[in-house]
Amino acid sequence: MAGREGVFDQALSNGLAAIVACEWPGKEVDRKGRVLSASALLKVIEEHLPATEGIVCVPDEHLMPDIPQSDVNSLFQAGPRPSSHTRIDVRTLQNGIEASQAARHGRGAGALQQRHIEALLALDGHRSLGAMGEEQQDRIQRIAQTEDAVSQKRAAEYLERIGDEEATRRAENVANPNAYHPKHNPDGHDLDICPVCGHEAFCVEGLDPIFGQVTYGQCLVCTYVRSPGAAEDQAFTEHLRSIMDDE
Ligand SMILES: [Zn+2]
Repeated sequence: MAGREGVFDQALSNGLAAIVACEWPGKEVDRKGRVLSASALLKVIEEHLPATEGIVCVPDEHLMPDIPQSDVNSLFQAGPRPSSHTRIDVRTLQNGIEASQAARHGRGAGALQQRHIEALLALDGHRSLGAMGEEQQDRIQRIAQTEDAVSQKRAAEYLERIGDEEATRRAENVANPNAYHPKHNPDGHDLDICPVCGHEAFCVEGLDPIFGQVTYGQCLVCTYVRSPGAAEDQAFTEHLRSIMDDE
């Protein structure tokens, strides 16, 4: 299986299997536990929900529980859900399956049309598919935030233990192990201001990969560590804030 017909079949089978497994658990497999073909999955959907002119609308009955918006930086999960139902154009998808199979067997070339692709993309609104990416993103973001909070707390405690005077002394004598040098260290960076102790002692290992705005690394005075994930999270928050300020 190759080419765009293969990709269409694979994506359609996966999408339909996820939707059927979510709506009618167990119906996505045959008696031997094998996942049904895209055609068979479309039949399962039609058996459970009547099609109107070849189109089945799967209602979003069991809406996901609301995520409390009071949480810090709930920016990723903000925003309304795109629709309250998923449109499954059974007739067009069935036609797309036939077209891609014909193309793969050398009967009629380029039979897969835009309307087939659009019908496939419409499946993505279903919660079994859309929610996956969101949940994953949310989980990664939460881990980064928790790690950062723990690191800040630990650094603040350390700072208290050594005292202001000692912290200042260390900051004045700090040497940057990752200082920029055109020849010996072209990827080096200047020291950044540490958000915990306020000293220019944050040794930068890199910048967040998406916006290139927030540094990650470790403070050489208070030991605060900002991970690449935390830098990305912060950069995204700052980016959204700047968009809102512009409006
Ligand atoms: Zn510091």
